[in-house]
Amino acid sequence: MVDMKIEKARELGFCFGVRRALKIIEGAADGGTGINTLGPIVHNKTVVARLKSLGVGVADNPDDLKGQVIAISSHGVSPAVYEKIQAKGARLIDTTCPIVRSAQKAAQRLAKAGFGVIIFGEASHPEVRGLLGWAGDKAIASMDVDTITAQMMPKRIGILAQTTQSRGEFATFVNRLTEKFLPYAQEIRVINTLCQETQKRQLAAEELAETSGLMFVIGGHNSANTRRLAEVCSPIVETHHIENADEIDAQWVRGKKKIGITAGASTPDEAIEQVIQRIERIYNSPGDQ
Ligand code: SF4
Repeated sequence: MVDMKIEKARELGFCFGVRRALKIIEGAADGGTGINTLGPIVHNKTVVARLKSLGVGVADNPDDLKGQVIAISSHGVSPAVYEKIQAKGARLIDTTCPIVRSAQKAAQRLAKAGFGVIIFGEASHPEVRGLLGWAGDKAIASMDVDTITAQMMPKRIGILAQTTQSRGEFATFVNRLTEKFLPYAQEIRVINTLCQETQKRQLAAEELAETSGLMFVIGGHNSANTRRLAEVCSPIVETHHIENADEIDAQWVRGKKKIGITAGASTPDEAIEQVIQRIERIYNSPGDQ
């Protein structure tokens, strides 16, 4: 037996928004009604496959949604999508996370008050696409201040963030944007829409990375909050973002004294346990690749 320690971050895995969304969907699926979700309920293939076995299908486009029950994911959607679903006459199950809902309301308030809204986030992410819909026709989403010019925005500017962005990067973005727009703007208003669950996971991952020889970040490759965890750990220590235990290369693990584990907000406990078991197998059976 080789002396090696595996430690889990003190905050990792399913957040309350994801637990809530799954409870709602699984409860509805129990009723035996076929459910069609707009996009995956969470960005995790294992979870989506389990829901599929309960009769929960996925459509990527609102126009492709079928069936009598349509569900919206924890990432939320724009008002236009609500209208499309309503036009289909289907029953709506809305699992939008309450924290995302608050960000949508903040975007809507700013737009109604005449602000041009800037969302710090990935323009193609479902949550950001939804937020843009609430933020009015002068809204833009960007992660790069250089792409935003004074001509694009009115004199009053509202700034908010995709909920899963990192606090440090949002602060840098706000500082740079404020510096750039102060010569033109009459008012700059910042709303902190960051999710504290995500922030706690990022902080715990960072602390663990500092005392580990290797970090595994477990979660969907398309999961924004999981990618952010990997970005937080990578500058500190060798870090691998994996979706499941099969992606582990035994060479990464060998010779390490302490391995840290963290996981995105949509990663189920089983995936975390399978990774831990695989690491232990590699250590205990040197032939395991
Ligand atoms: S990460 Fe935060 S915002 Fe996203 S679903 Fe979980 S609790 Fe909600």
